[in-house]
Amino acid sequence: MFLALKRKWILIVLCTLLVVASVVVYFTAIRPTFMPKAVHTIVIDAGHGGKDGGALGHDITESELNLSYAKTLEKICQQYGFKVVQTREDMNGLYDPFAPNKKKSEMEKRRKIINKNNPDVVVSIHMNSFPSSEARGAQVYYAAGSESGESLADCVQKTLHNNIEHAKNTAKVGDFYVLNVSPCASILVECGFLSNPQEEVLLQEAEYRENFCYHLFCGILMFFNYS
Ligand SMILES: [Zn+2]
Repeated sequence: MFLALKRKWILIVLCTLLVVASVVVYFTAIRPTFMPKAVHTIVIDAGHGGKDGGALGHDITESELNLSYAKTLEKICQQYGFKVVQTREDMNGLYDPFAPNKKKSEMEKRRKIINKNNPDVVVSIHMNSFPSSEARGAQVYYAAGSESGESLADCVQKTLHNNIEHAKNTAKVGDFYVLNVSPCASILVECGFLSNPQEEVLLQEAEYRENFCYHLFCGILMFFNYS
């Protein structure tokens, strides 16, 4: 009787071990063959917000447009399986409302979000403005000395130049806080000029925005050698 009971327990323990071993083998040996490619994390940084509207158009602020471009880019990135983190989800500023220096507080918040999420790429979205209304066209910037930033900027600028009218053909070095503090490939995209009346109208069109963000995303894909 005692022996039979002992055998029964040994059998239960052996069966349990077999199940545990099977699960371990499935998740370590078999599962990776069904896994998609590594998920890339992208931080999308909509510039300005809150009291800081950025550049002003005739009937729209830069901060508003930045957010709508950031949301469109987010949607496209998610469709392709990217993990997306937005620095700004709405029209509120990122600064602490009680901070004596709101710009400093806002920039510090952006830096913290970037560092916390350990992204593969950071894309900061802005709209340009210039005293002359003639100036137009998308321009991509990267931080001086950042090889990965330059490579990402080249890919995105090239893709925009080939697909978006008036987009510049060469990426430039830019001294921007978000680029300087990002530990990964980072770019700042000035999508167009609100000071150019035709471009201001175009930048507000949904179809133009979708197309622009799609090609911006294609540039990011090119950077990851997916194309
Ligand atoms: Zn801006």
